[in-house]
Amino acid sequence: MTEHEHVRVAVIGSGFGGLGAAVRLRREGVTDFVVLERAGSVGGTWRDNSYPGCACDVPSHLYSFSFAPNPDWPRTFSGQEHIRAYLEHVTDVFGLRPHLRFDSEVKLMTWDGENLRWEIETSSGTLTADIVVSATGPLSDPKVPDVPGIETFPGKVFHSARWDHDYDLRGKRVAMVGTGASAIQIVPAVQPEVERLTVFQRTPPWVMPRVDRAISGAERRLHRLLPLTAQARRGLLWGIRELQVQAFTKRPNELGLVERLAKRNMTRVIKDPELRAKLTPTYRIGCKRILLSSTYYPALAQPNVDVVASGLSEIRGSTLVAADGTETEADAIVFGTGFHVTDMPIAERVVGADGRTLAEAWSTGMKSLRGATAAGFPNWMTVIGPNTGLGNSSMILMIESQLNYLADYVRQLDVVGGRAALDARPGAVEAWNTRVQERMKRTVWNTGGCTSWYLDANGVNTTVWPGTTTEFRGATRRVDLAEYDLLRPPAPDPAPGHRADGGRKKKLEAGA
Ligand SMILES: Cc1cc2nc3c(=O)[nH]c(=O)nc-3n(C[C@H](O)[C@H](O)[C@H](O)COP(=O)(O)OP(=O)(O)OC[C@H]3O[C@@H](n4cnc5c(N)ncnc54)[C@H](O)[C@@H]3O)c2cc1C
Repeated sequence: MTEHEHVRVAVIGSGFGGLGAAVRLRREGVTDFVVLERAGSVGGTWRDNSYPGCACDVPSHLYSFSFAPNPDWPRTFSGQEHIRAYLEHVTDVFGLRPHLRFDSEVKLMTWDGENLRWEIETSSGTLTADIVVSATGPLSDPKVPDVPGIETFPGKVFHSARWDHDYDLRGKRVAMVGTGASAIQIVPAVQPEVERLTVFQRTPPWVMPRVDRAISGAERRLHRLLPLTAQARRGLLWGIRELQVQAFTKRPNELGLVERLAKRNMTRVIKDPELRAKLTPTYRIGCKRILLSSTYYPALAQPNVDVVASGLSEIRGSTLVAADGTETEADAIVFGTGFHVTDMPIAERVVGADGRTLAEAWSTGMKSLRGATAAGFPNWMTVIGPNTGLGNSSMILMIESQLNYLADYVRQLDVVGGRAALDARPGAVEAWNTRVQERMKRTVWNTGGCTSWYLDANGVNTTVWPGTTTEFRGATRRVDLAEYDLLRPPAPDPAPGHRADGGRKKKLEAGA
């Protein structure tokens, strides 16, 4: 990267969000952009999560771009390596390689109100951009709890999203901390090879069977020869999930039936009453993400597995002490403890128009306009921003909605012409969030009686979208200019020595 290079758009991240943005920009005729990626290859989530058993919970015909269908998905639920290969393929087919800047971690982005552009410092140099698209992912920075005494542990420690493939778990006493989506995939994958597996569980998840099978050669040929059949398959998968949304958002009591099915799924496999009691959730199904696995319970029922129904509270050398006092000896600890979601690190690296970081602006909770823009951070847009997560469907649907919004944003700036920037009006941000939180009140995520990573430190759900993907598609189809202040460069300063309040002043005039 040359010093002080200027681009129209800087995209950060090369997962589904960043690559999707790159494809969309090219389709809009924008070629003056770069994709800044801290790692050495594309893939995001599906590059970083290579733990044994890693797979998608949404069928691949739905968990893929609508504009890049893949008739050759090998299984109904694809594994990590196939999704990663898909993203490499998308990168090649859409000619994105020349835009990619690997090993370029964004350290700081600062809004320059004089010149209406972002100054971006990366680990490989500095550049400026008119627009920043932040696609750094809600689940990309691993969260490891600060367990007292962890520094005294003599064995191996790693997070599920940073799997150490050089470490051999065979014959080891392994502690799995956490029972979320990653942990329930890891447990059955490693259980047969480890000497002893101890699962530290704070709250039991609801687990439904996973109906996974190989997609036959005949099906694949059909999808290749008649792409409409693949589209119909995707449409069906999508439609079923859209119909489920009402139960999550408006009528959580209807989920009682699903709860009974999940309980039967557990009791069919787990015969030990003590273990059953530990594994039976006491909150409404759906309050935390419903997990899919047909191998988790069978693995827990094996003689080399223990479930400690209590969080890990202390480590004394190789002894792991749970909150209930249980002591366990371990050679390795795997943290399946999730990610920094409501406190995403990138927010500390964005400095807006009034000199505050996004983290400071969001210190009382993440708030955006339509999951994309934030007041005081002109021409800065996030993909999968606040309240865009889904409890039951494919995040790619939400990403594509946000890409529509990005495309219209770029178009609107073209129409306005000249040097210009858009800054979300605080009133519009408030109105959007009030509507979202009003709808959130009745949802299972807020009423189901659990705590989850969907809620922030104040107990506010700033992560999930409380509606259908169709509604979100409608809400992000166009940029409504009435929701934005139009910024123009400040007029040349007539009084020498007097510093113009770049961009900000113009904004106040425009917003008056
Ligand atoms: C194990 C796992 C399973 C999942 N399963 C599902 C599922 O079944 N269904 C579903 O819908 N969703 C699932 N998700 C959610 C998944 O994260 C999203 O579906 C989607 O992949 C997010 O794409 P993204 O591009 O927004 O983020 P990511 O894929 O996380 O990509 C973000 C990229 O930004 C880069 N980056 C971050 N910070 C910086 C920086 N400062 N500078 C430069 N680059 C940076 C990262 O290196 C990364 O490449 C899963 C997530 C995980 C972790």
